[in-house]
Amino acid sequence: RKFNFKGNTVGAVAVDKNCNFAAGTSTGGLSGKLDGRIGDSPIIGAGTYADNRCGAISATGTGEMFIRTSAARTVCMLMQYGMSPDSAGKMILEEIERINGRGGMIILSVDGTYAIVWNTSAMLRGIWTALKDTITVAVF
Ligand code: ASP
Repeated sequence: RKFNFKGNTVGAVAVDKNCNFAAGTSTGGLSGKLDGRIGDSPIIGAGTYADNRCGAISATGTGEMFIRTSAARTVCMLMQYGMSPDSAGKMILEEIERINGRGGMIILSVDGTYAIVWNTSAMLRGIWTALKDTITVAVF
């Protein structure tokens, strides 16, 4: 399938038929950023993480807070120890909000359940599954 995205962050999480999990995050960073700033997106465990034992996560938002909370890895570990994607995502977002961070995450668990959580006013998102061959897109 071909998708067209213009600007902003693009993140994806996926699992294949052999239960291999993957996550990817592409970003232009934050506006007004300092030269040389590295956000959370390329840092494995902060804005991006995948592990066949727990799932896959891709994040967007104020990267420094996602780095400080090791957000993606923490969510994965919480799921590995039994938390649902929704609860794990909301828990880390609470922590991020506590330190004045904003953003969202797409989260896929090893049991095939997923969650999309955010504490911004909106988050563009799409979901495709081979099982139903349907695409769902939403903003709010
Ligand atoms: N998380 C990115 C950064 O801090 C920004 C974004 O993609 O939302 O660089």
